[in-house]
Amino acid sequence: MNGACKRCGECCRRSSPTLHLEDRALVLRGVIPFRYLYTLRKGEKAFDNLNQTLVNLQEELIKVKEKGDTRECIFFDPLSSSCTIYEHRPLQCRVFLCSRPEHSKALSKRKKLQRTDLVSNPEILTIIDAHNQRVDMAYFIETLESLSNSDRIRDETVELILYDLHFREFIKEKLPLNPDEIQFYLGRSLYEILKDFGIELDITPL
Ligand code: SF4
Ligand code: SF4
Repeated sequence: MNGACKRCGECCRRSSPTLHLEDRALVLRGVIPFRYLYTLRKGEKAFDNLNQTLVNLQEELIKVKEKGDTRECIFFDPLSSSCTIYEHRPLQCRVFLCSRPEHSKALSKRKKLQRTDLVSNPEILTIIDAHNQRVDMAYFIETLESLSNSDRIRDETVELILYDLHFREFIKEKLPLNPDEIQFYLGRSLYEILKDFGIELDITPL
């Protein structure tokens, strides 16, 4: 059929989906395990596919992880060029059609999944909240964006990066979580985000 999906897998090689409220059951049933998810926190930079530009997120997003340093979705099997969870793929993948961008536009108004939709343990919710308060993403991004090429990163920013790394280690020791799930619970570390800005910092991540 003209304009129909040819299942070439190109879109799966180029990006992974953002989850919507409709995908909640997929995560809670374990079809998409927490270890395959990561959170982009409010204030973080993200690429807006619809408008083809970088934006500062107004709300957090939960995404399926990509493989290594690529943008390929973790559920994509390059050998068969197919999705390994095709029957249970997230809403965005079911709606997306490269020949019909208006489908994705309609999706932008749908409610995105949040960590609070998936986590019920009050202790973990308190930890997420404490991390959000103390490791303020909007402030961190603003600080990085205000640096000019010759500026040295400020001591308090380095302290925040170290605090974030220590917080992650503390959580791994305190809670029975799979270390691969930390990017879901706490989002990407400030140390990783720093690298997106092309800034090298001489600290050894824990
Ligand atoms: S939506 Fe387009 S890019 Fe994605 S699999 Fe189908 S034909 Fe390929
Ligand atoms: S979940 Fe499946 S359909 Fe969606 S991007 Fe990943 S591999 Fe492609």
